[in-house]
Amino acid sequence: MKRVAVFGSTGSIGRQTLSVCEAHPNEFSVSTLVFASNHEEGVRQIRRFDPIHVGVFDERAADIVRAELPDAEIVSGNEVWKLAALDDSDIVVDGVSGFYGLHPLLCALKAGKPVALANKESVVCAGRLVREALKKGGCILPVDSEQSAIFQCLSSGRRQEVRTLILTASGGAFRSYPIEKLGSVTAEMALNHPTWSMGRKITIDSATMFNKGLEIMEAAFLFDMDAENIEVLIHPQSVVHSMVEFCDGSVIAQMSPPDMRLAIQYALTYPNRKPSPVKRLDLSEYSDLVFERPDTARFPAIELAYEAMRRSDTARLAYNSANEVAVARFINGEIAFLNIYDCVRHTIERMPDACIDDMRILSELDSQARRIAMAYCP
Ligand code: NDP
Ligand code: MG
Repeated sequence: MKRVAVFGSTGSIGRQTLSVCEAHPNEFSVSTLVFASNHEEGVRQIRRFDPIHVGVFDERAADIVRAELPDAEIVSGNEVWKLAALDDSDIVVDGVSGFYGLHPLLCALKAGKPVALANKESVVCAGRLVREALKKGGCILPVDSEQSAIFQCLSSGRRQEVRTLILTASGGAFRSYPIEKLGSVTAEMALNHPTWSMGRKITIDSATMFNKGLEIMEAAFLFDMDAENIEVLIHPQSVVHSMVEFCDGSVIAQMSPPDMRLAIQYALTYPNRKPSPVKRLDLSEYSDLVFERPDTARFPAIELAYEAMRRSDTARLAYNSANEVAVARFINGEIAFLNIYDCVRHTIERMPDACIDDMRILSELDSQARRIAMAYCP
């Protein structure tokens, strides 16, 4: 029985992780549940899974949960991250959204634990800190579907035989929307993803392609690849989740229906495979599978990601921090869709270039980038 700690349990990744655990009651038990503020879903999950530990980041939500479940021991605020290091879990699933996902990742790795990592912002912002924490014996098992695909494809050859990592992208809500009308699209339109059902922030990131920019950086970190050996192809059907090209010209692809439970389950069962609740892939249902180079005018966020990677740790950090702020401002109706990109570029250009190898420096630079992005006026 593998004991699973689920961070971000009330979110899209968290709920799907719990559904994988439910599908395999003899394989997995849920040792820990951590969420931020969704106490209604959180209480339902605690009643259903009866975890040993519960963490509720938001203090008010924690009090509500304590009142509803007086026998449960609930930790709150920054104490919740320590639950990632406890001995009574065998693996930590990091499905916390945004920069905060860095905390459970570092706590678990420093305790030598394996982490099934969905959160990509952490390795983009704090690659050096994560690399240092990995020395304690823990490991990262990728959950992001593209990285899981690459992880699976890489077993077809040796590391030095890899030529290119090819990340696929659905193209998001606006892949074929008239480019001249992108200035006036609403958050509701951007939240309407054609193939994946995900949390709000990553769905907007798919529409802007900042998600793919973050994934280029994530892949560079996870697989220790140079940016120039990572390519992106638009693949609207979301059936090929990514590919690896080897030096002899062979391209290995991982295919499955667009369902995150498969990638989550593989991270939990690795190195084994088990039957999964995911529908089987029937390729005869697809009359054609399309692959296109991304339109750089429509999706400038991809080029900006390469630029940030060439530039510095701070540029990568700002790419993420400014994007988090800009997406929130777009959802609040403060800025327009196309301003998200402008805001991130504006922030990167105003940040000092520095090497980030310390948590204090990271926090200061993150706050600085967020201040610049908040002050950005279109
Ligand atoms: P959601 O917004 O659906 O869920 C986020 C989860 O994190 C919620 O449980 C939320 O709690 C919790 N959370 C947020 N902040 C905190 C905090 N400070 N402390 C504790 N818990 C917190 O996001 P997704 O599930 O879509 O995405 C999660 C991560 O996985 C992101 O980094 C995303 O990029 C990545 N990812 C997601 C995919 C998907 O299919 N959804 C695919 C690939 C990667 P609450 O609900 O209480 O607010
Ligand atoms: Mg992805």
